[in-house]
Amino acid sequence: MPTFADTPGDATSGDATSGDDAPLRADAAPSIADLDTLIAGCRACPRLVAWREEVARTKRASFRRDVYWGRAVPGFGPADARILVVGLAPAAHGANRTGRMFTGDRSGDFLFEALHAVGLASQPHAVAVDDGLALTGVRITSPVHCAPPANKPTPVERRTCAPFLSREMELLAPTLRVAVVLGGFGWQALMASLHDTGWEVPRPRPRFGHGVRVDLTHPDGRTLSVLGCFHVSQQNTFTGRLTQDMLRGVMRDAITIADL
Ligand code: SF4
Repeated sequence: MPTFADTPGDATSGDATSGDDAPLRADAAPSIADLDTLIAGCRACPRLVAWREEVARTKRASFRRDVYWGRAVPGFGPADARILVVGLAPAAHGANRTGRMFTGDRSGDFLFEALHAVGLASQPHAVAVDDGLALTGVRITSPVHCAPPANKPTPVERRTCAPFLSREMELLAPTLRVAVVLGGFGWQALMASLHDTGWEVPRPRPRFGHGVRVDLTHPDGRTLSVLGCFHVSQQNTFTGRLTQDMLRGVMRDAITIADL
């Protein structure tokens, strides 16, 4: 990933007309691969499209020789995952640069170190789409697929992007057993998505917390466990609020529940 025909760095060449309504076409995506392609061409949020492309043009000095992806970043991982990790949004100089979730920044370094330690990732680091990293049994996504200024999507942007998360959950449904949610933003977005897709989410909605577990059922008989985990941002990992032991503990719980 990305495996799209479009070339990274050609961020402004997309078809704005077809990309503007991409979230409305998420329900019709027949596969995870089709959904990923739809997401990568999305231009539905004017503020985020402008920001991701400006970042891709101006770059950070240390990455000035890199060709930035500068587009929406789809999920990463197998289409038969039993665990879904839900973050917040791509980082401006991380996934917005490399085109793959949590790839190319310190948050990703922290996450993939833990995933590798518990056997879900083939290597402990992620630097580029061609670095050989493969995930087993786990897929990583976010409720907002474009890098937002100050890492803060607006409520309207979250709602606009929501159909992608709902469709991704539906396409993963045959195998999905656990969602690990990194932080409160992702937690609220996922709970809303689960409610919208028929899951029996309690009222009032369960509150986010590190170590919180919520077991949900669907009228069709499916079950899903949602686990809360502090986000892997440097604000948490540099301060010790989230340690490797804490993150690995949540991932090990997910593996046990998912029977991986
Ligand atoms: S945030 Fe989501 S809906 Fe908005 S432009 Fe990016 S992919 Fe499209």
